[in-house]
Amino acid sequence: MSQDWPVIYRAFDIAEADIVVNWLAERGIEAAVKDRFAAGTFEVPQIAAPYGIEVCSMNPAQTDDARIALVEFQKNRDAQTDAKSTEPVVAECEECGKSSSYPGEVRGRVENCKHCDAYIDVPE
Ligand SMILES: [Zn+2]
Repeated sequence: MSQDWPVIYRAFDIAEADIVVNWLAERGIEAAVKDRFAAGTFEVPQIAAPYGIEVCSMNPAQTDDARIALVEFQKNRDAQTDAKSTEPVVAECEECGKSSSYPGEVRGRVENCKHCDAYIDVPE
């Protein structure tokens, strides 16, 4: 018997879909990656599944709860992303060994040491 489970989330790739399914499972909500096997065998999921990897509610009674929970999930994730990008980051200079603090916007970039002006890799 085949049934169309309601799609509650479209993940960018199979890894994100798994995170979503696990996250819902922790909250007692049954969800599954649609066409799990097919999705797992796609070499390039974005092309094979142009609309994303579909995560489906496996329990119709929980579909609304799942959608509400996923709004929270996305909010949390966005908040984490924002906090990470704006939080100051400390980098240690290999030349003088002193630490300098940089704004989050320059994560992953090369800046100048505030003490000796040498190039310094700001961590991600
Ligand atoms: Zn330095």
